[in-house]
Amino acid sequence: MAVEHNPIREGYFGEFGGAFIPEMLRENVVTLASRYREILAEVGFRQELDALLRDYVGRPTPLYHARRLSEDLGVTIFLKREDLCHTGSHKLNNAIGQVLLARRLGRTRIIAETGAGQHGVATATACALLNLPCVVYMGRRDMERQAPNVARMRLLGAEVRSVTSGSETLKDATNEALRDWIANPADTHYVIGSVVGPHPFPSMVAAFQSVIGAEIETQFAAATGGDVPDAIVACVGGGSNAIGGFVRFLDNAQVRLIGAEAAGEGIATPCTAATLTLGRPGVLHGARTMLLQTNDGQIVEAHSISAGLDYPGVGPQHAHLHASGRAEYVAVTDRQALDAVKLLCRTEGIIPALESAHAIAALSLARFEPGVRVVLVLSGRGDKDLATYERELATPEAE
Ligand SMILES: *Cc1c(COP(=O)(O)O)cnc(C)c1O
Repeated sequence: MAVEHNPIREGYFGEFGGAFIPEMLRENVVTLASRYREILAEVGFRQELDALLRDYVGRPTPLYHARRLSEDLGVTIFLKREDLCHTGSHKLNNAIGQVLLARRLGRTRIIAETGAGQHGVATATACALLNLPCVVYMGRRDMERQAPNVARMRLLGAEVRSVTSGSETLKDATNEALRDWIANPADTHYVIGSVVGPHPFPSMVAAFQSVIGAEIETQFAAATGGDVPDAIVACVGGGSNAIGGFVRFLDNAQVRLIGAEAAGEGIATPCTAATLTLGRPGVLHGARTMLLQTNDGQIVEAHSISAGLDYPGVGPQHAHLHASGRAEYVAVTDRQALDAVKLLCRTEGIIPALESAHAIAALSLARFEPGVRVVLVLSGRGDKDLATYERELATPEAE
């Protein structure tokens, strides 16, 4: 595939980002880059999006003072309850925004990639709601592992296309979705599921997820008489829920920003997804970012018990925030995440998604000063992970 090596300069975060795209996609991507901000600022578009976020997604989500968890950890924790969004995570904020935007740009067909199936379900949901045909690319292995989400997407009217190239997982599904977009540039919009891909996707997805941080700012101020949090903690797969929580506070150096990436079986093992801790710069899926790769630049298969964090890359803005030191990133193992699942279940009666559990585990690794007040973005609920929890976590009887 011919790759354009003249990336658009404005889409950079330090040395990361850009738009490394085939010539066939150039017009599409440039149109998107030049139009999305103006469309997002249109009163009519804002009103339609805000009404759907409120009445359909269920926003604003609560900011909940988790008293028993706070007592257990010795710092004050507020949970930003993205787990209460329709379809079970923050992903619908972005999917609805992008499908609305695509319709506004006159696109008549939607495609998406999905790994665990969560983004596929969110996109299929938005397409059903807004009456656009939807094709979701998914690795054959992922379709087997995540059969309930395949059933959900089909029930919602989406066509799920099985990808049998490479490792038959997310990276390959993304390649296939890009190929589809190259073949159908005029009528199709590709809904990317995180702050990854060529410019403008990282900034555009961040804009749709920034509602998380905007609500945190207002709700935290209301709960504390006008203060800002001492820290925001979120898990990082591609990094969209974390960027959504962070963006509002980037310019306020008093707010510590902490991302939790997946260490898998540990950063000293080959079974890991700790891209920022272990990766090196390279180009994948249209952007220059930090990647898990071999010395000669082959992408290394990522591993995490959590399918949503199992990606060998990371959003370019996180690569930059890591390089600049503005945000800190901790690597959380499968075991630490599973222990954190149990902790939140037992202290607060909330079953978190495995991805979100990485953020909870990071609370114990971040070395907070006594008395700090932390907002944790609880990105999703754990219903989808029940089979893993049953397998991996001892029941009270067995303890
Ligand atoms: C997909 C997913 C993530 C990872 O995606 P980000 O873009 O890093 O936010 C995290 N949590 C949940 C619940 C997810 O479904």
